[in-house]
Amino acid sequence: MKKIPFLDLYSQYLSIKPSLERVIQKVIKNSGFVKGEYVSEFERNFAEYLGISHCVGVGNGTDALEISFQALGLPQGSEIIVPANSFAATAEAVVRAGCKPVFCDCDKSNYTLDLDHLEKKINSKTSAVVPVHLYGHPCDMGRLLKITQKRKIQVIEDAAQAHGAEYKGKKVGGFGRLGIFSFYPGKVLGAYGDGGAIVTDNKELARKCRMIANHGRVSKHDYRMIGRNSRLDGLQAGVLNVKLNHLEEWIKKRNKIAALYLSKLKNCEQVVLPRTEEWARNVYHLFVIRAKKRDDLKSFLKEKGIETGIHYPKSIPELKPYRRFVSKKEKFFTSKISKELLSLPMGEHLSEKEAGFVADSIKEFYSK
Ligand SMILES: *Cc1c(COP(=O)(O)O)cnc(C)c1O
Repeated sequence: MKKIPFLDLYSQYLSIKPSLERVIQKVIKNSGFVKGEYVSEFERNFAEYLGISHCVGVGNGTDALEISFQALGLPQGSEIIVPANSFAATAEAVVRAGCKPVFCDCDKSNYTLDLDHLEKKINSKTSAVVPVHLYGHPCDMGRLLKITQKRKIQVIEDAAQAHGAEYKGKKVGGFGRLGIFSFYPGKVLGAYGDGGAIVTDNKELARKCRMIANHGRVSKHDYRMIGRNSRLDGLQAGVLNVKLNHLEEWIKKRNKIAALYLSKLKNCEQVVLPRTEEWARNVYHLFVIRAKKRDDLKSFLKEKGIETGIHYPKSIPELKPYRRFVSKKEKFFTSKISKELLSLPMGEHLSEKEAGFVADSIKEFYSK
């Protein structure tokens, strides 16, 4: 069997090549490089897809978080609760915004925020919570909002891995005051470079985010505050507009591959499979298992030509720059399982035959 890549963006490109080349030519011909009509068009389309009123394109997902914190005016030095299990950018943006990241453990089977632990972490200094819809699975937003609303804590959703994921039939991104997305190439909806977006139903907040991201101005020469430069560019927006038309079909394909992994591996005792809650639509940005003898399994699969990943080899509190924010005594479930996590190949590039071969190879490893 030929190699099975973890991700294959080139085969995705080939499947929609004519429309991508057309839009790239158009952007160049009209010099629509920064902001402009392609960006506005994508902002409208993406907001409509999500069912949220406003979308502001920005430079990347990390900027989207930082700009959101600034727009909400979160007090300097206040505490923002983030998952211990996430991409480091979630905590990085908190520190850059002048706040203190406080780490919350993850749920034992869907890996998003453990809400019992969240309640224990909230105190009078808490200004916000950033639920991450990790691996494409939504957080339990109903229960989370009940916890935060009675204490007047802001919610900023990090949906960087969850384009199209749903909680009780509603797309994520619109539950908090602000939601952020990343269009890093490997995400469920990815550009051909960096890109990001902030979404909200609040018109005033959308206006503020747009102003911050564009040098603090409201029009060409009308500056209102010290802002920054973080804009979505026209070529990326053009690519995203084309890809957005295929997003639903790609999410369905991801779910098909996931269903196949789940059924083929359900009796494999050495593997813990990810759980999708009954209220969730999972978009499987990643399909993450917990595996006994993980490193040996990873090498075995590699020899068979199967590429896998680890998300994440270390929890954020274990990373050097973030250790100073946690007490030495504190132990996270997340840190314990990071030695078992393994991400299987996932994406619309996979055939069912290939996914079946991945699952069979895992079973073969444990039967030896
Ligand atoms: C990718 C990602 C980000 C950052 O997005 P960039 O566009 O790479 O800056 C933030 N949070 C999570 C959970 C991510 O996966």
